[in-house]
Amino acid sequence: MGRITLDKVRKSFGAIEVIPPLDLTIEDGEFVVFVGPSGCGKSTLLRLIAGLEDVSGGEIRIDGKDATDVPPAKRGLAMVFQSYALYPHMSVRKNIAFPLRMAGMDKAEQDRRVDDAARVLNLTDYLDRRPGQLSGGQRQRVAIGRAIVREPAAFLFDEPLSNLDAALRVGMRLEISELHERLKTTMIYVTHDQVEAMTMADKIVVLNAGRIEQVGSPLELYRQPRNLFVAGFIGSPK
Ligand code: ADP
Ligand code: MG
Repeated sequence: MGRITLDKVRKSFGAIEVIPPLDLTIEDGEFVVFVGPSGCGKSTLLRLIAGLEDVSGGEIRIDGKDATDVPPAKRGLAMVFQSYALYPHMSVRKNIAFPLRMAGMDKAEQDRRVDDAARVLNLTDYLDRRPGQLSGGQRQRVAIGRAIVREPAAFLFDEPLSNLDAALRVGMRLEISELHERLKTTMIYVTHDQVEAMTMADKIVVLNAGRIEQVGSPLELYRQPRNLFVAGFIGSPK
């Protein structure tokens, strides 16, 4: 499960309305990319869905249930932070198990979930190492592992690759797409990088100053951009 609907969700910081009322449906299992220029509200929208920010109005539903006032840890979603959010003094195993340990899950179940996640992410041989002994790509996989073990209804990524060099970024992009193929769990992925959006998304949401300019598949946006902003941003020949 992992269907998320936003109904007239809006957000202001003080007097400034960053997200005017916005409607959006994300289907179970979809890979949705929020794309748009810096400062257009991508992170804010993701943080509203995650529950890390309170909405100023409107309703968020997850699998049909009103989640608008549900605290982040109870929404059943997992935010994937950049790899620098790892604990340097803990082993890879302990880093991945961290949210389960915090939830008080029994040790055998923790180990089972960590071993499963490590297998999916090719980290089995690295579980006893510290993050400092890993490559940038491996560290990013540990950060993803920490989300996988929670068995979330959806994964939320906020520019997870922006700290990696160009070559590594291409590799990780493929890895995240493959992970989606394997898990078939809803993923919402924020980026300002048009290439990431066009290559990874089932559905792209183009944002501009907190508003949705267009929602569609990469092909639809490329072939039929609704306006010049979308055309310019996606790089289609309108
Ligand atoms: P993006 O992720 O697309 O770069 P953000 O969602 O981070 O954009 O920011 C959207 C707008 O909201 C920006 O103008 C930013 O300055 C503003 N903003 C974000 N968070 C806060 C905050 N906590 N307080 C005040 N303004 C904020
Ligand atoms: Mg951002």
